[in-house]
Amino acid sequence: MKPKSGDVVRVSTKEEVFEGILMPRPEILDKNVTVVKLFNGYNVGVDNKKIKKIELLKKYSPKIFSKSPLKKKKGLPNVTVLSTGGTISSKIDYKTGGVYADYTAEDFVEIYPGLADIANLKAKKIMSIMSEDMASKEWILIAKEVEKELNSGADGVVVTQGTDTLHFTSAALSFLLKDLSKPVILTASQRSIDRGSSDAHMNLVCAITSAAKFDAAEVMSCLHGTTNDDYCLLIRGTKVRKMHTTRRDAFRPINESPLAKVYENGKIKILNKNFKKRGESKTTAFGKFEKKVALVAVYPGMEPEIIDFYLKKGYKGLVLSATALGHVPTENSSSNLLPGIKKAISKGVNVVIASQTVYGRVHPYVYTNLRKLSIQLNCIFVEDTTPETAYIKLGFVLGQTNNHKKVKELMLSNLAGEITERSDDKSFLY
Ligand code: GLU
Repeated sequence: MKPKSGDVVRVSTKEEVFEGILMPRPEILDKNVTVVKLFNGYNVGVDNKKIKKIELLKKYSPKIFSKSPLKKKKGLPNVTVLSTGGTISSKIDYKTGGVYADYTAEDFVEIYPGLADIANLKAKKIMSIMSEDMASKEWILIAKEVEKELNSGADGVVVTQGTDTLHFTSAALSFLLKDLSKPVILTASQRSIDRGSSDAHMNLVCAITSAAKFDAAEVMSCLHGTTNDDYCLLIRGTKVRKMHTTRRDAFRPINESPLAKVYENGKIKILNKNFKKRGESKTTAFGKFEKKVALVAVYPGMEPEIIDFYLKKGYKGLVLSATALGHVPTENSSSNLLPGIKKAISKGVNVVIASQTVYGRVHPYVYTNLRKLSIQLNCIFVEDTTPETAYIKLGFVLGQTNNHKKVKELMLSNLAGEITERSDDKSFLY
């Protein structure tokens, strides 16, 4: 039988013999080379012309976890872990060479048995996707699952997902979950669980600890606070952002201090007392999100007709990720956005201004150019809400009302901690 990628093989040349896993060859690379992953973890490439024979030693067999039902221990809080995919659920498939999302919450417990000592865990895989493929349908589904768990005995819920768009999900859940009475913790990992340097273990320990016992009825992210395994940070779901492509401490608080530090030994140190305490209310998940909302980057030299595209497509709301205090190119520029914005607003489209600096607040009046947007055109300046959170909030608000006055009122109200009265400067590059 001809060996296939994933199989354990012995490759012999005149001079040498290599044993290991036969690796797939990515399309872009030289096809005339056979790659073997040696048992010490290194890959070796062998020129096909030199190969005398390839013997099959063992057929590929994917690891199947036993999925033993999770046992309950008396006196421990109940935490449900909902898994959705992302790196934390991913492993390399040596057959295809790709990374795919497959570990579920039950597997997490099997890999890290200590998790079951923190809480009585219930595990549910609700989807298996990478987070760049998530949008409103998935956010609503997650919110509904969280609602179900919180109203049927869970003391807290952990949602695991990909890191890339975790701050969109955390903002979405912050708005979609009404009357939250327990913690909802989002966690993830930057490095997959099958790598020694994975951040998954500590993130899961801290997330489950927080869901089990942190006295906060908030949606929060819980990931590494430093590049070492020192502690995790609990950051409000509307005030967090992924700020680095690969670092373990990529999730940073924006314009507000983190709520707490969580240590692997179970200790929680509160840093910011501004959070709602646990309660008894029944949580309901809002089931509507307006999809015709866009997040548009403003930049020098941009094509102003971009706004027309959204108008033609029937968009109901635009969040402009504007420069600094909230600027867009004006009549002094060939990128003048003012006529497009005017047209959009006259058609009933809500135009929201947030800042691409991420830190700090937009301000509607400081410059004459800002007044053109705020006073003349009636754009909505959303204080220190991040552009991503503003985008989620606008989709949520437009899911409830189309009335501009009401939309403006809600966008300027602090619904889920997204607007702080005074941005906390200590959070800058925290
Ligand atoms: N891009 C993928 C995702 O966000 C993988 C990255 C990750 O999980 O950290 O799901």
